[in-house]
Amino acid sequence: MALPQPRPGVLDLPLYVGGKSKIAGVSRVIKLSSNEAALGPSPHAVAAYEAARADLAAYPVGPSTDLREAIAEIHRLDPARIICGCGSDEILNLLCRAYAGPGDEVVYTRHGFLIYGIYAASVGAKPVQADEKNLTADVDTLLAAVTPRTKLVFIANPNNPTGTYMPKAELARLRGGLREDIVLVIDGAYAEFMTAPDYDDGLEMARALPNVVVTHTFSKIYGLASLRIGWGTGPKDIIDALERLRAPFNTSGPAQAAAIAAVRDQAHVAKARAHNTKWMGVAIQRLRGLGLKVVGEHANFVAPEFPATGKKTVIAADAFLQSRGIIARRVEAYGLPNHLRISIGDDDATARVLDALEDFMKQP
Ligand SMILES: *Cc1c(COP(=O)(O)O)cnc(C)c1O
Repeated sequence: MALPQPRPGVLDLPLYVGGKSKIAGVSRVIKLSSNEAALGPSPHAVAAYEAARADLAAYPVGPSTDLREAIAEIHRLDPARIICGCGSDEILNLLCRAYAGPGDEVVYTRHGFLIYGIYAASVGAKPVQADEKNLTADVDTLLAAVTPRTKLVFIANPNNPTGTYMPKAELARLRGGLREDIVLVIDGAYAEFMTAPDYDDGLEMARALPNVVVTHTFSKIYGLASLRIGWGTGPKDIIDALERLRAPFNTSGPAQAAAIAAVRDQAHVAKARAHNTKWMGVAIQRLRGLGLKVVGEHANFVAPEFPATGKKTVIAADAFLQSRGIIARRVEAYGLPNHLRISIGDDDATARVLDALEDFMKQP
């Protein structure tokens, strides 16, 4: 007798594998593989999370109402045009479910976030990668990848794992070159780390235009990755479509409570950004000083490229770091077989990983 079979294509989906968190035989590891917050969450967020224990028996507020209002206040947005999700991943997933299906195409960049292709394929749409130039998203190749079947264009700005970004004028040119029936999704997972004057988080476009959605997360600078909470904003019609697809209680009460306190503590965000900026500068200078190529200088990680052959390959570097209890992230799944993505950690972790890489590069 025939056994249950998933829909065609389901078993072809690649499994998303998160950053490693363990090394066999090492009890205290330094985990720099998932771009988690170097300074952890705001103490106010932790206090709000702890206070939420009093309400564990109650269902959370389904539409995350108070959280949407807090986000709207901080970012000067309309709360009716914000949707909260189980991480911003859920918003990316809902966008694919709402706007793409079999026969459709979803465009993203060659070294773009893997999840876009996985979610596109999960709804039966075809993932289409546009080439990058010098590990940076390129408007012309993105526009050239668009066909009459294109429904969504995803761009992480800045991008993971390259650490590069598309400046404001280029982002506007990308939007200007797209048909209005294509949704442009600007994934701002690392937006809060940005300090470049020509950077644009896209929120102005999401406020004003009928086909731009911006997503943000509490997993990165806010340090609440375990609570799984993120949000998106865009035109009313798009948010309305996503609202109909999301599970009724997709964000938990403790996650909402912690995120409200976190978004209100912009002083903590500023402190985390300053910490990141300082170490990013140090890391790039030291890695380049060791002869390693580093292109991206943004977000909260660095991704040096190691020689493809010889004694200083990425495989050797990764093994060396692990021997010192440090976990970084290989990114061959992103088409970058010789790069190692290393999150900026706290003072101690970042100093240690840079010292370790120096020892690795200088050993005979
Ligand atoms: C980490 C990350 C996300 C956010 O994931 P969450 O589901 O919000 O934890 C989204 N996009 C990119 C590019 C990321 O690196």
